[in-house]
Amino acid sequence: MTADRQPPVRLRPEIVALAAYAQGKPAAHDAFKLSSNENPFEPIEAVREAIAGSSINRYPDASGRVVRARIAERFGVSEQEVHLGAGSVSILAQLIQAAAAPGDEVVYAWRSFEAYPGLVAVCGATSVTVPIRADGRHDLDAMAAAITDRTRVVIVCSPNNPTGSIVTAQEFERFMQLVPNDVLVLLDEAYIEFVTDPTVVNGRTLTGRYPNLVVLRTFSKAYGLAGLRIGYAVGPEYILNAARSTAIPLSVTEQAQLAAMASLDNEDVLLERVRDLAVLRDEIWSALREQGWDSPKPHGNFIWLETKQFTERAAGIFSEHGIVARALGTDGIRISIGEKESVASLLRASEEVVRSLP
Ligand code: PMP
Repeated sequence: MTADRQPPVRLRPEIVALAAYAQGKPAAHDAFKLSSNENPFEPIEAVREAIAGSSINRYPDASGRVVRARIAERFGVSEQEVHLGAGSVSILAQLIQAAAAPGDEVVYAWRSFEAYPGLVAVCGATSVTVPIRADGRHDLDAMAAAITDRTRVVIVCSPNNPTGSIVTAQEFERFMQLVPNDVLVLLDEAYIEFVTDPTVVNGRTLTGRYPNLVVLRTFSKAYGLAGLRIGYAVGPEYILNAARSTAIPLSVTEQAQLAAMASLDNEDVLLERVRDLAVLRDEIWSALREQGWDSPKPHGNFIWLETKQFTERAAGIFSEHGIVARALGTDGIRISIGEKESVASLLRASEEVVRSLP
């Protein structure tokens, strides 16, 4: 098609203007990919076996009943109060679509998960972003104050991607008192398993308490199944039914469902890995602080470095040291906790960055 000719198909202009989700860069073969908060461990044998025995020519069970039953048991809820998606990002999309139409507002902290703005824009709804506090934490009072008659959804991310900060149980319960109960609250707990601070809000203890709260979790991070795409939501049945209505049918594969079951059956091994990653995270954070970084205490499987306008340059330095980090605009760099072997290079790079920043 020549540049001077209008393309014939009329697409929604707001979608044409929308940038596609920018994934963390792939790593060269000798570099460490610490840009997507993935789990560095290879799948456990039980997961490999489950996938090897799966069916490919048949459709999966659309509702993922077996996995839902298992999760329902852990949360002490009914199966109808659990919903699966091809990653929790799919469920976020389904729920935002179910609640927010053009002209409606969706409130969330910023910076937070990079996918939120696009998911809201696709619905024709308006993002209302509330700046993260200087210490990387959600400003829940300001978020509550940002709610208007047009607000349909509020997203709370704990631990927050990319700052790593948590919302405490006390803060969250207080916040829920301030939110009208016709506004859907999504508590995004993608990284909850990495949290060791006992004051953290935990969606598992909140089920059945609020008619407008849905908790989102994933098998991508702690359970290491990012490539298979499976996440889940726990919340009131009437809300999850709406998500089922907006969902693309059959997108949670049988491989993903079997791998999730195998992971839950072998959780001890996986949570041991998570504990090791959390220890490594805390060691790296201490070393960074010794280098002079003022980085918020991390609670997920990643660390946030506020490199501001030097972000691209800083990412370049990490790259020269064989570390692929995630550069987020002119705000900062997010580095995932990965292989033990990546730590020495990571700290050499961070030292060079901190020395070269004005
Ligand atoms: N929520 C947050 C805060 C995330 O960082 C991510 C992944 N980066 C997700 C949700 C989505 O994860 P997935 O779709 O793999 O479950």
